[in-house]
Amino acid sequence: MATLGNPTNTIAILQKYDFNFQKKFGQNFLIDANILENIIMAAGVNKDDCVLEIGPGIGTMTQYLCENAREVVAVEIDKKLIPILQEDTLSSYDNITIINEDILKVDVNAIVQKKNGGKPIKVVANLPYYITTPIIMGLFESHVPLESITIMVQKEVAERMQVGPGTKDYGALSLAVQYYAKPEVMMTVPASCFMPRPNVDSAVIKLTRHEHPPVQVQDEKLMFNIIRAAFNQRRKTLVNSLNNAANLYLNKEAVLAALETMGLSATIRGEALTLAQFAVLADFVKN
Ligand code: SAM
Repeated sequence: MATLGNPTNTIAILQKYDFNFQKKFGQNFLIDANILENIIMAAGVNKDDCVLEIGPGIGTMTQYLCENAREVVAVEIDKKLIPILQEDTLSSYDNITIINEDILKVDVNAIVQKKNGGKPIKVVANLPYYITTPIIMGLFESHVPLESITIMVQKEVAERMQVGPGTKDYGALSLAVQYYAKPEVMMTVPASCFMPRPNVDSAVIKLTRHEHPPVQVQDEKLMFNIIRAAFNQRRKTLVNSLNNAANLYLNKEAVLAALETMGLSATIRGEALTLAQFAVLADFVKN
């Protein structure tokens, strides 16, 4: 079994299996051992942990996870990678389960139940960038028992997750991530650490699940529908954005009255509201 995390052994495996990178699956494999060690450290993986890896690729980070965790479950969509993982790069580990599936279609709650008795797991992944947001939101919204998610994402996306109102990157993703977790950018990773090189710089962000959300809201789903509508048309006033949202059925006067009670201007834009203010607004709308 070849130890991955360097260009030589990565190329050898790719050639042995005549593997062609699939752009549609966002395949950029890590080839830097230092970065891999730092990701494992940032995630705080230890022998008590059950870890879910999304997109193991040829198993580079999976090898590090298998060495450091009690149990690893890796979900990979590309069936061409499965023989490489099973017969070669992960063949000597007995603490790995490989699932050939689309992570967006997998019942992660069932995996956590089966592999960790329903106790919180850690998610560690070098994510396919084209579906970063649905993966993160899917994990949070389906209330998977989670301790943390430590993931490589596009650098701009990592920044978007951490910012607050008044910045151009502030949006529905920032609010959703911050409602569920504490985001911390752990490191930036240059394109030269991947094969093939992506066109963007990357960053590793750790999302540590809040024990309790930082704000109380009666109807979480309604709050996120309001947030999504507010940022769908971010140059419009909040009142107009909500009024135009087909799935909300909101009355303009009711929204104006809520804003007045909250001491906010009738012409305020959604991008100026904090998470706490969106929660108050959602409660007004609900009632
Ligand atoms: N973890 C490997 C590494 O760090 O070298 C590979 C990371 S690569 C950026 C992303 C991986 O996710 C690829 O192996 C790709 O095939 C896989 N992938 C893409 N979409 C997926 C999906 N919907 N479900 C599961 N895996 C997916």
